[in-house]
Amino acid sequence: MFSLFSSIAVEHEYRFIGFAAFVCVIGSFLTLSIFSRTRRCAGFRRYLWLLLAGLVGGCTIWTTHFAAMLGYHAPFERTFEPVLTLLSLAAAIGSTSFSFFVASRSDSRLMIGLGGLLFGLGSAAMHYIGISAYLVPGFIQWDTSFVVASVVVGGLFGAATTLVLAEYGKRIGLWAATAMMVLGIVALHFIGMAAMTFVPLSGIDVPPQAVSDDVMLAAVVGMTTIIIVVVGTAFLIDQRSMAEAATTYRHLALHDPMTGMPNRSFLKKRIEEGLEAISGGSTRLAVVSIDLDRFKDINDLHGQMAGDTLLQNISGRLQAALAEDEFMARNDGDEFVAVKRIADDDRQAMEFASRVRRQLDSPFYWNGETISIASSTGISLAPRDGCDAHDLIARAGQAAYRAKMNGGDRVVFYETTMEQTCRIRASIAMDLKSAIANRELELYYQPQNDTRTRRLKGFEALVRWNHPKKGLIPPSDFIPVAEETDLILDIGAWVLETACRTAATWPGEFTVAVNVSARQLAQETLPHQVAGVLARTGLFPGRLEIELTESGLIADQEHALKIVQALKELGVSVAMDDFGTGYSSLSTLQNFPFDKIKIDREFVRSLTSNPQAIAIVKSTLLLGSSLNIPVLAEGVETEDQLSFLDAEGCQSVQGFLFGRPLRREQCEDLIREEMQGRLSLPLAFATKAGVR
Ligand code: C2E
Ligand code: CA
Ligand code: CA
Repeated sequence: MFSLFSSIAVEHEYRFIGFAAFVCVIGSFLTLSIFSRTRRCAGFRRYLWLLLAGLVGGCTIWTTHFAAMLGYHAPFERTFEPVLTLLSLAAAIGSTSFSFFVASRSDSRLMIGLGGLLFGLGSAAMHYIGISAYLVPGFIQWDTSFVVASVVVGGLFGAATTLVLAEYGKRIGLWAATAMMVLGIVALHFIGMAAMTFVPLSGIDVPPQAVSDDVMLAAVVGMTTIIIVVVGTAFLIDQRSMAEAATTYRHLALHDPMTGMPNRSFLKKRIEEGLEAISGGSTRLAVVSIDLDRFKDINDLHGQMAGDTLLQNISGRLQAALAEDEFMARNDGDEFVAVKRIADDDRQAMEFASRVRRQLDSPFYWNGETISIASSTGISLAPRDGCDAHDLIARAGQAAYRAKMNGGDRVVFYETTMEQTCRIRASIAMDLKSAIANRELELYYQPQNDTRTRRLKGFEALVRWNHPKKGLIPPSDFIPVAEETDLILDIGAWVLETACRTAATWPGEFTVAVNVSARQLAQETLPHQVAGVLARTGLFPGRLEIELTESGLIADQEHALKIVQALKELGVSVAMDDFGTGYSSLSTLQNFPFDKIKIDREFVRSLTSNPQAIAIVKSTLLLGSSLNIPVLAEGVETEDQLSFLDAEGCQSVQGFLFGRPLRREQCEDLIREEMQGRLSLPLAFATKAGVR
């Protein structure tokens, strides 16, 4: 009698055992890798992977078992019955697939453990079917306790395999479960073998072995290797494409598709990392918001395509300006945000902001046209202005908004008072939407007079907002808000129509000046709109004057020039407003055919005190006379100012000295007075002249 168990150590061929062990470890690892994947996919793919896990798992168990059997040098003839042998393979594959199916059905430990238990029991079934294919010249005596032990141990290790896999993290769980599975297979096999005792019996013959053990082993291991390699490759490919998809997804989730630049989510992440890096130390984090000036106009005027291309070019230039430790994202529409760690010094933040925005200095080109882009830039600094990514971005944005309100094309640091300004602005924007429909807007008219004769020449229309709760709101508080949105177009249209309608009721000589904002000027349709208003109201074109500020002219000079010329062709005159406040007033003046220059009230205000203001006013007047363009001085409040302007040859004036902006009725009274005064004027004028 030979106890099979007692002879493992001596009577096994180690080559075979080595193969068995190798296949067992690799196969188990792959099986469990695939199995853990099935938990993460759904539908048809899940069943496919379950089947493949079953295939690899089944082959692994079976091959291990079979190689170990072959490796045993029995001191007698033995052979394998082919049908039962194949049946044991089928049992291994089938039971593994099924038990994994059970284990993957839910997240409950009970189900996972049950699946594992079935897996172990399935292996036991495979083992005993396999043994029954083992033909020997005698019979086998079974030790029941070993048989039971092998089944119990197989089942327990099976359950441990799936539970450990589900319980522990990806790496550790997989390796630990692999160990459980290998131990299970090995324990089951050897305890099962120990249960058998061979009793030789003469007269029982086994059929001769058709092929040698070596060939059989080669066939079995070869087949299993092929299966493992094929399935393993498929698994790796799948894994790889999953990883690629994840990378692509990550990129898409963190970048803006149009410019390819990092997006807001990425920006937040970066700022959070930066905040962590500076926490406790002496360095700071500068967050720079770069908001393009009048970008909306470019979109309106040249179309979305131009806007997109421009944004792409801009982002290209901005990114090219960055050093390695600097970061820039497209936060929203035409707002870019740059981040940098700096030493404890405002100047460094300013230098960084200036370097980045300098990239926009040279013009961009679109379809043969030149487009200049300026930016309003705001800076917030952590920790001074906040320690939260969202706050820092918002505050840099508020500073940029202040820069825009102050005329754009500049850099402003965040200050705490801006927060309140922002809240007020948001509420203004809300209410303004309904202001026109609710008839809350009202036009006031400020007189414009001849400097020498003091005669009334016309009026400038200035809009006011009668807010139902907040009372009268000056245009400086709501026009900039309206200019950020399309609201300015509606307001502008209303102002133009109302001013012309009112002026048409005045005696023929009085003119009306209407302020037209940059956004309105950017509309291709402006001349057409003006022509329509003139036709509807019956106002003679020569009595309408359009006031333009420099900011509306320089963004796209070619376009602005076209519009100005079209307006002049209608017979309307065009004035340059706020002269001297822009940064290239002189060249703008030379490039556009203005009918009037309006000197900004700032210079007039300081005429008597500031020599520089005197110089500017004087040279403007000189310029006007050499270009043959009449000049009007704004903000004239005193007789001293008036006489200075008169002496220097300024043709007309506007200011509190001659009247504040008036309601329509007050305006009519003034006109009536003026007309009556003129009737008696020859005398008064003669007297005055005589005195001189
Ligand atoms: P602006 O075009 O320079 O208008 C002149 C501003 O100076 C007016 O302020 C006027 O009330 C003020 N002003 C006139 N004379 C004097 C004076 O002697 N001393 C002082 N200190 N100020 C004087 P207002 O009405 O508050 O308008 C402010 C700005 O709002 C305007 O500046 C203009 O840029 C804008 N605005 C007003 N109405 C409209 C409009 O209908 N459309 C557009 N787009 N902008 C408008
Ligand atoms: Ca004006
Ligand atoms: Ca002005």
